[in-house]
Amino acid sequence: MLWPVLQAQASEPDARYPGAGPAAVGLGDTLVRATRSPFFAERLRVAGVDLAEPTWDRWRAIRPTSKEELRALADFDGEVVIAPRAEVVEFWRSGGVTGRPLYYPRTAADLAHAKSSFRLGLEIAGVTASDTLMVSFPFGIHPVGQMVARAAEAIGAAVVWAGAGSQLPSAAQVELIGELGVTVWCGMPSFGLHLANAAEAAGAPLADRDVRLLVTSAEVVSAPKRSLLQRLWGAEVRDIFGMTECTLMGAECGRAEGLHVWTESSFCEVLDPDTLEPVPVGETGTLCVTPKRTTHATPFVRWLSGDLVRLEAGCDCAYSRYPRIVHSGRTAGFLKLRGVNIGHREAEEALYSIETLRDFRVLVTPDDRLIVELEAVSGGEDATAERVRRLFADTFGVRADTRVVGRGTVVEATAGQVKAQRFVDERASV
Ligand SMILES: [Zn+2]
Repeated sequence: MLWPVLQAQASEPDARYPGAGPAAVGLGDTLVRATRSPFFAERLRVAGVDLAEPTWDRWRAIRPTSKEELRALADFDGEVVIAPRAEVVEFWRSGGVTGRPLYYPRTAADLAHAKSSFRLGLEIAGVTASDTLMVSFPFGIHPVGQMVARAAEAIGAAVVWAGAGSQLPSAAQVELIGELGVTVWCGMPSFGLHLANAAEAAGAPLADRDVRLLVTSAEVVSAPKRSLLQRLWGAEVRDIFGMTECTLMGAECGRAEGLHVWTESSFCEVLDPDTLEPVPVGETGTLCVTPKRTTHATPFVRWLSGDLVRLEAGCDCAYSRYPRIVHSGRTAGFLKLRGVNIGHREAEEALYSIETLRDFRVLVTPDDRLIVELEAVSGGEDATAERVRRLFADTFGVRADTRVVGRGTVVEATAGQVKAQRFVDERASV
């Protein structure tokens, strides 16, 4: 399938690499800036990129970069950062749940571009100036919370800077949703479930409130989790997607599967995870992103995000010119238990399809026991626990012990994590 922009150009030889070369799709500045970073300059030199006339051929020869490679650098600032400190106005911490975090400086120009990307993402998701929008992402060094709030203000929405549960207790958040007439809520899906549970427990379900739209990010929204959120809030769910190496890149319009990625901000490639060669259009591979505009301090070229995706074209919405990223059901994350792989995403989908389950955490103890902590609707704890045990036995062939915990325990245990860790391998830390 061709990307929409190319449908008029039947003679185009390769839909994935349009135009005469990288400069034709707005990657020229990124390449020029990359030559000022010793790390990326070397990659470009080895690939034989001619800055005066870069070709797709040479572009594809640039070795993609992983976060592990950057973590291994002794002098990240000296090797990668090209902006003098006087031009830096903010630091962003990289996402991810494992390993040493990296801190990326951002210039005023980067922030302006980032804000316009977040704004576009919220607009695609359906946020308008008439909305009252609550932001319940954590506010901190990770940028998602404050960027969503700033972008929503730029749209003209009335913004409530609530933050994570550790910043404003969930009971107070639930109260404010009613009191201020919040129409759009933004946060992590699991925290959205937690707020809905808290409201239900307080006898004032959120489905009775004015919220019409949930904008989620930072966690995979599996289909069962999405329908649970929609039911508990009486609202639509739209996911937005970005990474600190770039900025916000994609948003769901709700009309077609996946997230539209706006081509002004990033250039997306899908590569074979083993060979790092581009896969055919429409096939699943590892996402490789090159930011086009947020490159004044860290000019990443061909960044491997770790997401497994495919690119698709077309839609019947106003943003059909942007291709869509569809995240794969496959996942890199799994627990290995006595020779059995338990995929995080597969387990999560199965668990959330138990309608009496409200939240969970899967732990593997140092002595190889699998324990599922679970929260369930009042009165349904024992039956839910039994279903969880049966699910692990039937689906994965492993024995799971269950532990019923009080409502809100899991969210408390993962408070402050931008990507809440619902799968914890305690063997890793011994
Ligand atoms: Zn669309």
